[in-house]
Amino acid sequence: MVVVMSPSATDEQVDAVVARVEDAGGEAFVSRGVSRTIVGLVGDVERFGALDLRGMLGVSDVVRISAPYKLVSRQHHPDMTTVYVGQRRVPIGPDTFTLIAGPCAVENPGQTLEAALMAQAAGASLLRGGAYKPRTSPYAFQGLGEEGLRILADVRSETGLPVVTEVVDADDVDLVASYADMLQVGTRNMANFSLLQAVGSVGKPVMLKRGMSSTIEEWLMAAEYIAQRGNLDIVLCERGIRTFETATRNTLDISAVPVAHTMSHLPVVVDPSHSGGRKDLVVPLSRAAIAVGADGIIVDVHPEPESALVDGAQALVNGDLRALAQAVLQLPPLLGRRPALEA
Ligand code: PEP
Ligand code: MN
Repeated sequence: MVVVMSPSATDEQVDAVVARVEDAGGEAFVSRGVSRTIVGLVGDVERFGALDLRGMLGVSDVVRISAPYKLVSRQHHPDMTTVYVGQRRVPIGPDTFTLIAGPCAVENPGQTLEAALMAQAAGASLLRGGAYKPRTSPYAFQGLGEEGLRILADVRSETGLPVVTEVVDADDVDLVASYADMLQVGTRNMANFSLLQAVGSVGKPVMLKRGMSSTIEEWLMAAEYIAQRGNLDIVLCERGIRTFETATRNTLDISAVPVAHTMSHLPVVVDPSHSGGRKDLVVPLSRAAIAVGADGIIVDVHPEPESALVDGAQALVNGDLRALAQAVLQLPPLLGRRPALEA
């Protein structure tokens, strides 16, 4: 259920609604949009019905939300959300297009810095890189852990690029958050509910990748776990789903971008590297992502993909980046977006 405040409602009137809901044992989440403030209610809907919220000063409407996800739904928050990352406040949202790029895994300081410089030259405004790698095989490189986080922080100091990095274990959330500007939850952990609650409690933006076998609704329910802990700085990431097709690693579900945008106010980015699993597909899939209204893309780059410890087959090298940079600079303005770098 959401309480829609009238555009002229005062802070005191909003506080009074929150107090009445909390006194009745419910939880209230206040979202201040551009045009109006909305209070989302979580708890026993029947009990809220008896509170006469509609009769309170400053209340314009009380709406029951039928979707099982509430705080992340468009019904709850009709204005699209912009998430700001890092000290530079790099935007990810409806007015901009954000390129996030970097190595799949942090391997050493030199490789990470080189990849970051390549990413920056191609127009990236955020650096990606995994220090904790969720690998299908327990014998594969699992990441450098805290040493990798330190390398990312050093490269951030050197380049100014805020850092997005994955956390795979709820016990590591505080540690990863102490280094990172944005926490990534990977496809294999989308339904790890204790991890979702932990990243929801830590006060840093979160990139939530879609589970490779999850529906869009399940993805939004996972986002709701994060939001319900008070963190609405969530960016959804479509990274391909499992289908019968074997030519690509996964099938990029391009329709998930506009579908998620109609169901949720959260920004949606696309990962053309992990979905295709092939570097020759990264630029065409990036163009497709821009065309369907993605708010950004997250792309693997590596100075020497042949020797990459993880995912070399999909990593772009310097020679490939010109086409990516061109797409990212030239296409979004045709759709009314400016590159996040200039924002
Ligand atoms: C990654 O981005 O490094 C990654 C492991 O992605 P995914 O969770 O989408 O496989
Ligand atoms: Mn990878």
